[in-house]
Amino acid sequence: MTFHYQQYLRNDNLPHIWCPGCSHGIVTKGILRAVDSLGWQKDDMCFVSGIGCASRLPGYIDANTLHTTHGRALAFATGVKMVKSNMHVVIVSGDGDSLAIGGNHFLHSCRRNIDMTLIIFNNNIYGMTGGQTSPTTPFGATTTTQPYGNIENSIDAVNLAIAAGATFVARTTAYHVTQMDKIFAQALAHKGFSVVDVMCDCWTAYGRRNSFKSQVDMLERYKDNTVRLEKWNKMSEEERAGKTPIGVFLDIQRPEYCEEQHKVIERAMSAPSEH
Ligand code: SF4
Ligand code: MG
Repeated sequence: MTFHYQQYLRNDNLPHIWCPGCSHGIVTKGILRAVDSLGWQKDDMCFVSGIGCASRLPGYIDANTLHTTHGRALAFATGVKMVKSNMHVVIVSGDGDSLAIGGNHFLHSCRRNIDMTLIIFNNNIYGMTGGQTSPTTPFGATTTTQPYGNIENSIDAVNLAIAAGATFVARTTAYHVTQMDKIFAQALAHKGFSVVDVMCDCWTAYGRRNSFKSQVDMLERYKDNTVRLEKWNKMSEEERAGKTPIGVFLDIQRPEYCEEQHKVIERAMSAPSEH
């Protein structure tokens, strides 16, 4: 069945700025299909971003949107959710935006368990700002700031989110679109702070500097270097070498921040006055 993406887009703002071969269009379409599957109304959802190529996404979506400052999307989103607790709040953020500049907000959003969804467009590089090393750039990869190879170990966003207290944590790729749709829908519907790490591609700033033949070559690598979590759990350490697990790693319930905040307000309002 044909999906009419235009119904969710600000068509006046198109064409988008993303380069040919960029994964961001694939991921954006997945988000819109998930929103549609949940029946969310435009007035009831808010997309928030910081700075970077992924952060241009809210400008294209016909809903409540905020394009904010670098790394601060989660702080702005928290403000929206605190004031409008019925709003569906979705944060779209790159790997640099969410895990470097916004790393502090990432940790504390996870532990607070605020009912929002963070979708990380994880393309292993600062794309918009010129191809600098990001927290998820693989060890040894070539970037504009490390032209002789990255000597930093990369952050695993999934492990970090789980350790910090998020209650829904998943990883998928721009290649596995069926899985991506399903995971996005689960994450958006989840009560609490959900994080989806999406492995995706920046041809312009990363791919052509790292020996990929084409954009298609980049995308197809996910066929070989990822493994479904169910299979991963049965593999030996030797078999896991060079591969990344994808799937839902955590899906639990814990007290949600805004609900707890409302309880605090009720307790404060009913407490006897000291004066
Ligand atoms: Fe996509 Fe990279 Fe181009 Fe940005 S610079 S639009 S991330 S391909
Ligand atoms: Mg990036």
